[in-house]
Amino acid sequence: MPIKLSLAGNPNSGKTTMFNALTGSDQRVGNWPGVTVERKEGKLKGNPDVIVQDLPGIYSLSPYTLEEVVSRNYLISEQPDVIVNIVDATNIERNLYLTTQLTELGIPVVIALNMFDDLAKRGDKIDLEKLGGLLGCTVIPTSAVRNTGCQGAVEKAVSLVGKEFPHIHCFNEEIENALIEIESLLPEIPASRWYAVKLFERDAKAAETLTLPADVSAKIEAIIERTVKNGCSPEEIIARERYDFISKVVSSSVTKAPASLDPSARIDSIVTNRFLALPVFAAVMFLVYYVSITTIGSMGTDWVNDVLFGEIIPDFVTGLLEKAQTALWLQGLIVDGIIHGVGAVLGFLPQMLVLFLCLSFLEDCGYMSRVAFIMDRIFRSFGLSGKSFIPMLIATGCSVPGIMASRTIENESDRRMTVLTTGFIPCGAKLPVIALIAGALFDNAAWVATSCYLAGIAAVVISGVILKKTRLFAGDPSPFIMELPSYHLPLWSSVLRTTLQRGWSFVRKAATIILLSTVIIWGLQNFNWRFQMVDANDSMLASIGSILSPLFVPLGWGNWRAVVATLTGLIAKENVVGTLGVLYGVAEAAEDGSEYWDLLRRDYSRLAAYSFLLFNLLCAPCFAAVGAVRREMMSARWTLFALGYQTAFAFITSLLIYQFGKFFISGVFEWQGMVPAIVLLVFVLYLLFRKNKFARKKDRNAVELHGENLK
Ligand code: GDP
Ligand code: MG
Repeated sequence: MPIKLSLAGNPNSGKTTMFNALTGSDQRVGNWPGVTVERKEGKLKGNPDVIVQDLPGIYSLSPYTLEEVVSRNYLISEQPDVIVNIVDATNIERNLYLTTQLTELGIPVVIALNMFDDLAKRGDKIDLEKLGGLLGCTVIPTSAVRNTGCQGAVEKAVSLVGKEFPHIHCFNEEIENALIEIESLLPEIPASRWYAVKLFERDAKAAETLTLPADVSAKIEAIIERTVKNGCSPEEIIARERYDFISKVVSSSVTKAPASLDPSARIDSIVTNRFLALPVFAAVMFLVYYVSITTIGSMGTDWVNDVLFGEIIPDFVTGLLEKAQTALWLQGLIVDGIIHGVGAVLGFLPQMLVLFLCLSFLEDCGYMSRVAFIMDRIFRSFGLSGKSFIPMLIATGCSVPGIMASRTIENESDRRMTVLTTGFIPCGAKLPVIALIAGALFDNAAWVATSCYLAGIAAVVISGVILKKTRLFAGDPSPFIMELPSYHLPLWSSVLRTTLQRGWSFVRKAATIILLSTVIIWGLQNFNWRFQMVDANDSMLASIGSILSPLFVPLGWGNWRAVVATLTGLIAKENVVGTLGVLYGVAEAAEDGSEYWDLLRRDYSRLAAYSFLLFNLLCAPCFAAVGAVRREMMSARWTLFALGYQTAFAFITSLLIYQFGKFFISGVFEWQGMVPAIVLLVFVLYLLFRKNKFARKKDRNAVELHGENLK
C-alpha cells in the first residue's frame, strides 16, 4: 500500500509550491486563496510509494466554502496516513489555528514552517525547539520556493506513519475533562477526538454523521451544560481557548522585528493608500499594456505579422504548392485560409508573451494581492465582496480557472454573481482582438487595452450594483480575509515557466481549434449553398452573417464579416482575429498583414471598431468558459441567464458607446439611433440608482463570526 501524505494548510502558505517541489509537477501557484480548488495527487520524486496530495487551503476544519469542504471531508473521512501541515512562518499566529485542529484527527502531523527565507529577511526570529515542544510536533523550517527543508519534512512525516500521535492540549482542564468524557461515549471511530470537540460545539453536521443513540446524545448534552456556564456558546469557548493557547505559544517562541523595518509596509503605505491606490493601479496597468502592446511586444508582432506570416511563410508555401502543381482551390485553402487565419492569431504571440510575463511578475512579487485588497475596498462600497476580485485576477490568464476559483466564496448569491461577471475581464485569448483593433485603427495606442481592462472591471461593478438590487442576488457581501504576502523579487524561473506555459497553450489552441475553424470559415466563404465556388459576398457565410447583421447596425458594425467573426469568437475568442484574417486576407489577395489592416480601416470607423471590440470582450464567453459556468452554476437555467445577461450587457454598452460617440463627434442628432439610446441609458441609470429593497441591517451570522475569528 502506498503511503498517502497530505499537504494541509492555510491558503497561500505555499502548499502548491511545495507539492510541485516534491513531485516535480507543474500545478498553478498563486499568492491568493482559491488557486487550488480541487485535490491534486502526485508521486513523491525518488519514492513512488509515497503519494503526495495538495489540498485546497483551509483556515479551519469548520468549512464555510466549497473548497474548504473538499479538504475537510477528505481529511476526516478518507484519512491520509500522515499530514504535513504547511505553516506560513510570517503569519504564524493565524496559521496555527488549523494546526490545533489537525492534531485532533488522530493522524501524525509534521509542521513545515514555510517561507522561512522571508522570515529571516524580515528579521523575525522563531525558537524552533521551544515551538515544537509547546506544540508537541516536529517543526521543520522550509522554503518551498527554494526547495530547502521540504525533503526533510517529508522524511520525518514518513517515519511517523502508523504511530500513535498525541493531539495538542490547548483547552483548560475543565473542558479537557469534558472532551475526554465525550470521547469515551463514542464508538471506535477515526478522528474521535475531533468528533468529541465538534459534538461539544453542538455541531449538527457532526452529530448527523455519527447518528448517536438518543441516550448518548442526552449524556453529551448534560456534559456540555455542566461545563459551559453564563450563557456562552461552546463554539466560541473552544475558539477562544484555541486562540489563547496559540498566543501563549507564539509569545514565548517568536520574536518579531519592529514593523517599521519591514520594507513591504513602507511600499504598502503608498500602493494601498486610500487616494493613491487606484491611480497607481491604473498607471501600472497602463505601463503593462504600453510595454506589451505598444513597444516591445508590438515590435515582435509587427515582424511576425508582416514578415513571417506576411511574406516568408506564404511565399515559401505558395512556391512549394505551385511546384507541386496543386489545385488552385487547395492553394487558396492553405494560403488564404489556414496561413492567413492561423497566422493572424499567432502574429500576436509576441505581445501575449510580454503581457503574460508582466502579469506573472506582478502576481509573483505580491502586487496583485494588493490589488485584490484595494478592490475589496471599492467593491464593498458597492455591496460586492472583494473575494470576487480574485477569480477575476486569475481570469486575466483564462476565464476557466477564474470561474472555478469562485468556489472560495461561501455566499451562494455572491458566488453566482462572480461566475456571471468573471467573463467580463479580458482574458489572454481576448488580447489578440484588442491588439488587432488597437493596431489596425489606433496606431497601437496603449490606452485602448487599458480602457478595455478598466471597462471589464467597470462592467463587473455596474453588474454587481444592478444585480444586487434584484431578488436573485440580494444579500450582504461575504467577508474577505486575505493576508498580504510580503513583496519579494519573483523567482525568474517560475515567472518564465508560467509565461511559457500560457504561451504554449495559446499556440496549441491556434494549431487545433483555430486551425479547424479557419478551414471551415474558408470553406463557407468560398462556396454558396449549392456548393459552387463563388465570390465571398455570395457565399454561405455572407448569407448567414447577413441574416444577423441588421441587429448590429445600431452598434456601428452591421457588416456580415464582423458578425461572422463575432460568432466564431464563441468557439474561442482568438477566432475573431483568425476569421477577420481569412475574410479580409482573401478579399483582395493581400500580400502582407498591413494591407489587411488597411481593409479594416476602410470598413470600420474608429468608433465602430471600438464598439465591436467592447461587444466581443463583454458578450457571452467562449464555449470552454460556458462549460465552466455551467459546472459552477450547477444549473442550466442559471447558465442561460448568465449568457443572456452578458450578451445583453455587451449589446447595450456597445450601442450606447456608438450612438453617443457618433453624436459627440458629428454633433448631428439622428433620432433613429439616439432615441433608443437615450431610452436605454435612462433604463440602465434607473437600474443603477433605484432604491435597494433588499438591503438589510447587518446580522451577525455564522459566516461573519468565522471572519471575526480569523482577524
Ligand atoms: P498555496 O495557496 O498554499 O498552494 O500557496 P502557493 O504554493 O500557491 O504559494 C503562495 C505564494 O507563496 C506564491 O507566490 C509562492 O511563490 C510563495 N511561496 C511559497 N513558498 C514560499 C517560500 O518558502 N518562501 C517564499 N518567500 N515564498 C514562498
Ligand atoms: Mg495551492
